[in-house]
Amino acid sequence: MAVDTVFGRWLSRQSVPSRPPSLDAMMASGRAREGLLDLAKRGDRGIFVHLPLWFLIAIWTELWAQHPLFCVINALIFGANAIARLMLRQRFGALVERDYRSARNVFLALLLANCVHWGVLTGLAMHFTALRNAEVPLLFASVGVGCSGALGLAISPHTLLALMSMVLVAYLYKASRIVHDDYWAAADARFDLEERARQLELLSVTDALTQIHNRLYFEHRLVAEWSRASRDAKPLSVLIVDLDHFKVINDTYGHPFGDRCLVAAAKALRDALHRTGDVLARYGGEEFAVLLPGADALAARGVAERLLHSVSEVQLTHDAQAVHLACSIGVSTLVPAPQSSPSSAVSRADKALYQAKQQGRNRVVIAPA
Ligand code: GH3
Ligand code: MG
Ligand code: MG
Repeated sequence: MAVDTVFGRWLSRQSVPSRPPSLDAMMASGRAREGLLDLAKRGDRGIFVHLPLWFLIAIWTELWAQHPLFCVINALIFGANAIARLMLRQRFGALVERDYRSARNVFLALLLANCVHWGVLTGLAMHFTALRNAEVPLLFASVGVGCSGALGLAISPHTLLALMSMVLVAYLYKASRIVHDDYWAAADARFDLEERARQLELLSVTDALTQIHNRLYFEHRLVAEWSRASRDAKPLSVLIVDLDHFKVINDTYGHPFGDRCLVAAAKALRDALHRTGDVLARYGGEEFAVLLPGADALAARGVAERLLHSVSEVQLTHDAQAVHLACSIGVSTLVPAPQSSPSSAVSRADKALYQAKQQGRNRVVIAPA
């Protein structure tokens, strides 16, 4: 036997549910009135629930202590609704007899007012941080009140559907807000951390006084540039710049003035370097180191002369007295070879600097190739 035939027979045996009788038909039979009176009796139990429930939530979540006026106003609204329902209850039989539709509408409106009141309270608690403590209890109360009203009083399935949708929307709102807040808090913290890491990294390679790079940075760059020059078989020049007779300046004008001289010297050196790949660092005390990737001896000499000149141009005044700076520079140019190391470039420049000092200062000496 074909499956569709079996299915067709099974279908034909099923009784098709009939539409509920219309209100007019029910009224004609007098059943609608009986039904409404029965519903009202069932609803009696709920009249006294809302006010105690509100007190319970307000006290338990400490809302009562924090916002007494808010709590009292809401207690009055719940109280007023309860009194209105009680008053309606007393005259309900007569009212139903006289005007069924109005009685039904007033009865449902008072029920709905309670549900809406709980919903509004939940919405307020979700929105305002001051009421945040009461958010979850209020959500449960609204769902409980809404569903018990819809189920217990046999209100239409559409009402129940609407209530469930409201609960779903409230839940989605809350869940998405948590995800939203968490995401932005985490993103904010991450950006903050990255920014701090950048600042710390910059601080760790910056000289506090002159704001140019420090020795640590110079040594890192020297190793990196050394490897690159070795790979490309290109020259690399290292210059050590030492201020002349700086101790005399310090002793004569004081340490703070000496600091100003160091800042001015650093600026003069920085201004005299034009290529972006060049590195300037404070090597220690009144010594500066310069790294010139790709510069041969001739180019390095040219840069060194420019640096010497730039420092000699620095002019500071102390008590209306002009103070000039001078420096000596040792230069080392090497094409990295397997037997040499980055530190050998620095020690050769240092030796050349020593010779510059020996030869009378304020000059450039190139280390022999
Ligand atoms: P030379 O021409 O031989 O280099 O003589 P010099 O006096 O410059 O050299 P010396 O090494 O004898 O003195 C360096 C001075 O630099 C001594 C020290 O007080 C001063 N100095 C080092 N660091 C700082 C600093 O951060 N601030 C100041 N104001 N002075 C510093
Ligand atoms: Mg020195
Ligand atoms: Mg010196």
